[in-house]
Amino acid sequence: MSLGEFDLIARYFQRPAGQGPRRAVVGNGDDCAVLAPAPGMQLAVSTDTMVEGRHFLSTVPPERLGHKALAVNLSDLAAAGAQPLGFLLALTLPRVDEAWLAGFARGLLALADEHDCELVGGDTTAGPLAIGVTVLGEVPSGRALLRSGAAVGDDIWVSGHPGEARLALEAFRGTLVPGLSAADFETARLALERPDPRVALGVGLRGLASAAIDVSDGLLGDLGHILAHSGVGADLFLSTLPIAPCLAARSRTEQLDCILAGGDDYELLFTASAAHREAVVQLGAQLGLPLSRIGRVRGQPGRSLFESEGMAPLADRWASFDHFKA
Ligand code: ADP
Ligand code: MG
Repeated sequence: MSLGEFDLIARYFQRPAGQGPRRAVVGNGDDCAVLAPAPGMQLAVSTDTMVEGRHFLSTVPPERLGHKALAVNLSDLAAAGAQPLGFLLALTLPRVDEAWLAGFARGLLALADEHDCELVGGDTTAGPLAIGVTVLGEVPSGRALLRSGAAVGDDIWVSGHPGEARLALEAFRGTLVPGLSAADFETARLALERPDPRVALGVGLRGLASAAIDVSDGLLGDLGHILAHSGVGADLFLSTLPIAPCLAARSRTEQLDCILAGGDDYELLFTASAAHREAVVQLGAQLGLPLSRIGRVRGQPGRSLFESEGMAPLADRWASFDHFKA
């Protein structure tokens, strides 16, 4: 590497004093970062790696890649109802490309600042491009949102507009483009490359949601995790699914494929007692984030899809996205 490892870290990933959030007692550059969780809080920890060719295309602008590498991790904190504290960055780089590093660091640190989440350390090695992020968050003791709390009769909710990211992916793959306008493609591409982690929603759902997960592998697949962990089943009402404006012109089949089996959405899918319905609606309004009530938890395991409540069940032709099959 032309620029030495330590110069690279110092130039792109260590912030001058007074710049960026300061949450660590001992910060980036020492053997360990030292953080002090607030009294009464538990630590929430998660890690996700992005590998070129599998999780992103080489054409993604580095600034968006930096954003997404942290966003997918913040999304896991959001799903737990945790407030971000800090993160570690494990970078594997094929070469030192300073223009790439500058863009990557800009996107990464801008999102970090937005969520007051400090880069407290990391690791830098040479090899095929891979980006590993580990996030640390805090949540009041015993109040983390889990996958296991869904109860019979609970409403099933989803935030935002799942399906946009999949539309962009299909467009990039060249499989689903006829009639896709440039504007709709740009909207979808932004959702894929620059997802907005629902951190404020997750924190707001503490005490309201009975179970939560972030939608990374597809709505139906991720709903399956809540159902399995909670030992329940679900009825979903397809007419209540939110349709993103960029999906409005697609066929109903394409819309449902993108929304139900898309993945990479980083929206929150959660269950909540009907007693909290009004509070959930108010939270969505307060955050300016659409929240759609799309189904109901039932005791019988499995899932059934209906166009609307009270109608005959529909054929279910969706299987969840699987990294080792796709
Ligand atoms: P060690 O040999 O103790 O593992 P390193 O040489 O790997 O330490 O890292 C030196 C310091 O730089 C550490 O504080 C580490 O957290 C930080 N660091 C290394 N790589 C990164 C990176 N990609 N982003 C942020 N901090 C990093
Ligand atoms: Mg190291």
